Amino acid sequence: VPADEPGNVAHAIFERFLHAGECREVLGCFGELCQQLGLQDSGLQLYHSLKAALNYWSAKALWSKLDKKAGHKVYDQGKACASTKCLVVGAGPCGLRAAIELALLGARVVLLEKRDSFSRNNVLHLWPFTIHDLRALGAKKFYGRFCTGMLDHISIRQLQLILLKVALLLGVEVHINVKFEGLVPPTRKAGGWQAVVQPSFPPLTHYQFDVLISAGGGKFVPEGFKRKETRGKLAIGITANFINRHSRAEVEVAEISGVARIYNQKFFQNLYNKTGIDLENIVYYKDDTHYFVMTAKKQSLLKKGVILQDKADIESLLSPENVNQDALLSYAKEAANFSTNYHLPELEFALNHRDLPDVDMFDFTCMTRSENAALVRDYNGARLLLGLVGDCLVEPFWPLGTGVARGFLAAFDAAWMVRRWAAGTPPLEVLAERESIYQHLSQTSPDNTNKNISQYSIDPATRYPNINLQAIKPSQVRDLYLVGIVEVDHKRKSDNRLITAASGDVYEELLSWCQASTAGYRGVAVTNFTTSWTSGLALCALIHRFRPDLVDFDSVGTQDAIRIHQMMLDMAEQELGIQPVLSSIEMATMTEPDHLGLITYLSQFYEAFKTSPE
Ligand code: FAD
Repeated sequence: VPADEPGNVAHAIFERFLHAGECREVLGCFGELCQQLGLQDSGLQLYHSLKAALNYWSAKALWSKLDKKAGHKVYDQGKACASTKCLVVGAGPCGLRAAIELALLGARVVLLEKRDSFSRNNVLHLWPFTIHDLRALGAKKFYGRFCTGMLDHISIRQLQLILLKVALLLGVEVHINVKFEGLVPPTRKAGGWQAVVQPSFPPLTHYQFDVLISAGGGKFVPEGFKRKETRGKLAIGITANFINRHSRAEVEVAEISGVARIYNQKFFQNLYNKTGIDLENIVYYKDDTHYFVMTAKKQSLLKKGVILQDKADIESLLSPENVNQDALLSYAKEAANFSTNYHLPELEFALNHRDLPDVDMFDFTCMTRSENAALVRDYNGARLLLGLVGDCLVEPFWPLGTGVARGFLAAFDAAWMVRRWAAGTPPLEVLAERESIYQHLSQTSPDNTNKNISQYSIDPATRYPNINLQAIKPSQVRDLYLVGIVEVDHKRKSDNRLITAASGDVYEELLSWCQASTAGYRGVAVTNFTTSWTSGLALCALIHRFRPDLVDFDSVGTQDAIRIHQMMLDMAEQELGIQPVLSSIEMATMTEPDHLGLITYLSQFYEAFKTSPE
């Protein structure tokens, strides 16, 4: 068959896709592949079309794995959630894993990731069920070295690459370099919930969804979820990655899969006597890099000059100004050398995404978890189900290596919840069941979850022995059903755009900024977020104040209000990238129910211009 035969070109692109080692490369190859095959489908239909078009032996092996997976009865042949629309935030392992399940259930899945690369060398411990799960998704096909022999770990970036490829093949729509910033409640113009995203571009900004799965990691939790902090004893974690040249000498060095102080006091005593390094525990995995994670005692970090000054609060203690980076590198390297009996020849640091030696110090003293795993927002009858998965649900303590396993369990639980939601189960029942399952998450281990890992599915009964799905009653989760725009957590994050009735200070701040910015314009007097804006002149003045080049304020006044609004809405969208929330008619006839839409809209101007000189 000639090499330029269309089929062969597609095969070559597909092979490149399978082995692509960077996030952008994966997306690039996939786009090229769909273009080459002339495919414009989405969702599972795309999967079926790809399968039909790539019908050669190497691809077939992957299709048979994915077919087996997709054929599980829990997905109801991709019809279980066929009319559900989901937005997933974050392409970490847990967001991707959840997206895959939602796609298998037949939902439309759009996934947003604010970064454009997968750069974490750090290595994750995998429980047997996660290894089995990833094999069933074809992990070996994408990454030949996946868990060969006794290996039970993988670097975060390799795991993300595998899952991204599977997600794309199953029709998940992935957007990188796009940050989720908040929710836009339904308006009369738009009947469903939408997202504020940065940069803002259609059609993404017009996507309406009824499920939001947040998997934005430990630092990002959407508004409405209460966080609980658990403060333990001081724990300072250090991770370090060294280049693995895969030499014979390196191959022979044994891994350390968790030497806790209580089990091996002699080892830690020797380490301390010989080097002054004092650790609670250490783990070493040989993966793409030589990866070490350890918990170090504060006194030894002070003595070795890693931490410059002792401070009571941990944030200042570990702040960059108080850490000597060179001393930290030496500390990590010495610990790595000692714990491997100096058998790893000439350790050289691998580089992180900033091209610096990949060593980091983290605080595990204060770990956070969300009090609840899900909630429902109901605005004018439009319901949105929100669920958390991964680190934003429960932050893991890395040296214990539980993060991604519990993260996958929660991703399955969230998918199960969406399935129940799509089946029309009453919302409080869905929430009560989700919370009943969530109660178990922090106690799960390979020992107390079901042994028959090949039977695992999103159905919780396949994974958790004797689980009582009704442990929590619907009447106990009423506060998780939020009607209108009410807030449960009054501690707002400054970058969250869902402006709420309860957050009076944000309301006031925005109002006084609008007043100051529009002061002195003829016919404009801003005193509220309704009638002050109907003529369109206030919006016009606001734009003119910061971008006089865009509007001729004096000539605008002769037009009717709807026309003025339409011009301003279009201009703000095109020139400033600010997406409209209400229609020009709604703006011109502003009534109380619309004022949240206006606030959401104006807060985008505030974000864009608050620091501009007037
Ligand atoms: P993450 O992997 O943190 O992914 C969250 C994703 O969401 C990120 O890609 C982020 O860019 C994206 N995101 C966040 N906010 C937004 C937004 N508003 N809009 C769009 N996208 C958004 N675990 C270990 O066991 N061992 C380790 O050594 C280890 N090292 C780590 C090092 C770092 C720097 C970090 C951040 C985490 C580390 N972890 C480690 C934790 C481990 O990565 C997670 O447990 C695991 O990846 C599962 O996390 P996740 O998918 O929930 O979140």
